[in-house]
Amino acid sequence: MTPPLPDAAPAAAAPAPAALLETRALNKRFGGLHVTNGVDFRLEEGEVHCLIGPNGAGKSTFFRLLLGEYAPESGRILYRGEDVTALKPFERVRRGLSVKFQVPGIFPGLSVAHNLEIALQHHLEGASLTAEIRRLLAFLNLSDAAPERAGALSHGQKQWLEIGMAISLKPRLLLLDEPTAGMSPDETHATGEMVQALNRDGVALLAIEHDMAFVRQIAQRVTVLHVGRIFAQGTTDEIVADERVAAIYLGEAETGPADRARPRDAPARSAADA
Ligand code: ADP
Ligand code: MG
Repeated sequence: MTPPLPDAAPAAAAPAPAALLETRALNKRFGGLHVTNGVDFRLEEGEVHCLIGPNGAGKSTFFRLLLGEYAPESGRILYRGEDVTALKPFERVRRGLSVKFQVPGIFPGLSVAHNLEIALQHHLEGASLTAEIRRLLAFLNLSDAAPERAGALSHGQKQWLEIGMAISLKPRLLLLDEPTAGMSPDETHATGEMVQALNRDGVALLAIEHDMAFVRQIAQRVTVLHVGRIFAQGTTDEIVADERVAAIYLGEAETGPADRARPRDAPARSAADA
């Protein structure tokens, strides 16, 4: 058999695999406000990607478009190569999209274990349901809190429980909107370890986040959104070093792509407070 020549022509390139998630020229307006402005975004299979940007940049709106809670005026959303732009939220969830929003959507009057049971009982029962509840409790650092009322959990524990609810459906892509808002540094770091463990299991993540230490811990790529447009993309180091990015945070005393995080217990400001 003849060895291939070093400069042999390569075999025809395989077509580029479809991104796990892709948006093409996505547009959303609220009245005169162009909140999502021609966004072309790509998230690869198995990637951990962070979305940052000043308050009011359009990050949460972009999430709601991806989930189908808002309909875009124009543009397309592709999930695993399939056009899902017109699909209802539950149809996207069924295809493997899951989300944890900033405000926990847990049942405060029920125990922690019961919350997880409700989320899991759609596809598990009997011994496998019990085993999965136990496994999730351990994963979420909530084993000791299992019998407590979810409403009595600390702020950080509630966020973890909600992550548990979101991953109980075994998503392929998990969206997290400010998962560490209001967490202590230790809780933030533990959340990063959960993200890394999920990612090792093959889950892709897209997280809106302000805390650049957390972004540095988890992100393989970072996208900066500014006035509804993609302003910059790169690694955490590239984004932190980018003076153009630093400039768009001027006037935002508490947040910014520097490694100085805002006060951890400060609630996220909404554009309405600004
Ligand atoms: P971010 O999450 O980056 O802080 P948002 O996506 O929440 O930004 O908001 C982007 C802009 O769109 C803000 O100016 C906000 O006031 C406006 N906005 C968001 N949701 C609505 C809505 N439902 N109706 C009208 N304006 C909205
Ligand atoms: Mg937001």
